[in-house]
Amino acid sequence: MYEPLVGTILGWIVAVGIALAGLLVILIWKKDRTRKLSYLRLFIQMVSLVGLFYSFTLSLWLMVFVIVIFGLTFFSGRFFCGWVCPFGFYMDIVSLIRQKLGVKYWMLPDRVNRALHWLRYIIAAVILISPLLLGALNFVPASQIHALFLRGPYRPYAILLSPLEPLVLPFTGAIADLGFFDWSISYPYARDIIFYLDVPQVTSIIIYVFVALTLAATFMFRRFWCRFCPTGISIAAANRFNGLKWMPLLHINKVEEKCTKCGICKRVCPVQVTEVYEQKGGNIAPSTCLNCMRCIEMCPYEGCLKMNLAGKTLIESRNWLEPSDVK
Ligand code: SF4
Ligand code: SF4
Ligand code: SF4
Repeated sequence: MYEPLVGTILGWIVAVGIALAGLLVILIWKKDRTRKLSYLRLFIQMVSLVGLFYSFTLSLWLMVFVIVIFGLTFFSGRFFCGWVCPFGFYMDIVSLIRQKLGVKYWMLPDRVNRALHWLRYIIAAVILISPLLLGALNFVPASQIHALFLRGPYRPYAILLSPLEPLVLPFTGAIADLGFFDWSISYPYARDIIFYLDVPQVTSIIIYVFVALTLAATFMFRRFWCRFCPTGISIAAANRFNGLKWMPLLHINKVEEKCTKCGICKRVCPVQVTEVYEQKGGNIAPSTCLNCMRCIEMCPYEGCLKMNLAGKTLIESRNWLEPSDVK
């Protein structure tokens, strides 16, 4: 009886929250020259999260999202990772809290970071072939293996979609039920772990350890999970094939003559991409880049780094060190 009222109140809270966050973004936009894009990105991530929550109420959302994400990926690279993904958003919030607490982040040695990026391929492969392994080891009857490919963590598109889960889901069956509506609290991959293990005591412990570890790692290393996320690899994979390299319309572009090798772009990159620093001028599109544009926001040389969309400059670096020169 009270559910429609609670639903209306919650809807208003969300709407007012988004409006206030929008105002805050505008205020910070005016004040802070080095974080304009970052705060705009946080705002877009928040709106996307709300949109995703409501889209979970649609029965066809899984397939719709696969099509939308892959469609966008062909043309915009990993823009989804930088600007939309809820798991990425949670990690950015954790980083923001760390920053506000004055704790410095840690950097992984480049070799370790590169190795983690390669680990993505192994994790994705293991997830994809594990139904066959379980069948071979007789954990799952042979007659049910084909069903596993259609359910839970084994659906190829479930790998893509786990990081998309908002913290609150409009149905029960995730980490904990909320006690009103049919809503439950979730966390990326939690529902897959529940489905996969199906042993209540062990499952809960594994989920909470997973949540604690990923949050703790994220506190010290920015976008920690993104470095080996199987979804990231799936998204990046679309543009790895030679025949498809012409497709992305969104590119970082560097003007070599303006680069002083100050190294700022390398330091500020949340996933420690080195190519923007190392590569000579022209288009730069490493599969590890999230298209978050933080390097462009922080490069202190006018027009040295740009984000181009179909050859047109969307945004370019500004000389934020000398405000009088900023256009
Ligand atoms: S790499 Fe994975 S967790 Fe990170 S933003 Fe992309 S999809 Fe989300
Ligand atoms: S921040 Fe700009 S100037 Fe500095 S190394 Fe990177 S691209 Fe070059
Ligand atoms: S290279 Fe630049 S755009 Fe790509 S992830 Fe790093 S900071 Fe973001």
